[in-house]
Amino acid sequence: MRDCPICNSQRRELLNTQKIFKLPPISLSDQIQIYECQSCHFIFSDTLVEQSAYDNYYQSSTKYLFKNDFSELEIKRAKQIVDLIDKYFSLETRIVEIGSGSACLMFCLAARGYKNLMAVDPSYDSSDIDKLPFKALPGLIGNLPKAVADAELVIYVHVLEHLFDLKLFMNELKQTFSSNIAVYIEVPDATRYCDYIESPFQDFNFEHINHFSPEALQFFFERNCFKNLETSQDNIEPVKQKFVPVISAFFQRFANKDFLKIAADLPYPVAYKKEIDLYAKRSLEYFIRIKSFINKELLNVDQLIVWGLGQLCLKLLAEDIIPQEKIFAITDSAFNSSVVRLLNKNINLLKPCDLINHDHTILIATTISQVPILKCISDLSLKNKVITLPNYLD
Ligand SMILES: [Zn+2]
Repeated sequence: MRDCPICNSQRRELLNTQKIFKLPPISLSDQIQIYECQSCHFIFSDTLVEQSAYDNYYQSSTKYLFKNDFSELEIKRAKQIVDLIDKYFSLETRIVEIGSGSACLMFCLAARGYKNLMAVDPSYDSSDIDKLPFKALPGLIGNLPKAVADAELVIYVHVLEHLFDLKLFMNELKQTFSSNIAVYIEVPDATRYCDYIESPFQDFNFEHINHFSPEALQFFFERNCFKNLETSQDNIEPVKQKFVPVISAFFQRFANKDFLKIAADLPYPVAYKKEIDLYAKRSLEYFIRIKSFINKELLNVDQLIVWGLGQLCLKLLAEDIIPQEKIFAITDSAFNSSVVRLLNKNINLLKPCDLINHDHTILIATTISQVPILKCISDLSLKNKVITLPNYLD
């Protein structure tokens, strides 16, 4: 059982349960439960999976490796963060990004003229290091390389929502870096999930287990003697026309006595259960709409190819809305195995280009990646019948 990761309270109230199709290594657990802490009102998930399983999962995941073909959208967002950093820091600042993934932000900081950059990610292989305009080291939260200790600014973009143990994160932050270290944090904004539904329950997923409000994020840092320099609410566009609400915040550690006292006496942040309940209600209505749509569309289909093995697909499989016995094959360009095991039988994982040899109906089991998949189908001139799920606003 997971205690509140912010205040350690064991008093928690269950808000929502999601069934997930357990399919290692994509999903490690068969359910996600969303709780509200009854002391500090923080909202978090419990998947009954331990940190070590998550560490293995992220370490073996190949989706975050370096690449040189960043999309316009990735570069646009990275440049916005560079603009924020420009407000407070000089080009000489020693900057470390933890969990830097494909390192788009590091490339953009280097292009802007920042000279002292270091990227840390569990997926890095030390053989890549020489060709980059920044240092890149393998490492993860709880086991950071010693070389990061000189940093003046440490960046965590879309990291904190993944962490099982926020206390470990905070202890490491305080012990590893200087007593006046500055921090930039970006996380999804749980108070606005309800206004950004692109897929039902997309934010109650296996990977995102901490659901911050701006006040909860500030409380977490201020209580640990970080002063809030700026907090803003924005949205990002990871896939064209699909938006995610985010909180961006700068903090600076301030370990003097007066500040320690203020930090210890901070009141708990306001509750945001109401916004989460509204999100769950809207998601459920949308999920039921998708369920009746699929039931109707699959009535006369015996065998199908499912395209997109993401969070929504795992939920549709868990609820048996996509009947496993009808699945001929699964396609997912991000997943690099050749078979998955469903219903005690091996199901082929086909690459998009392999579909040329098969004329089964294709069900696109994602709403978020629907447009890029349709483009791929058109580029390959596939003649299969294609079923696309309704969008939230349809
Ligand atoms: Zn709490």
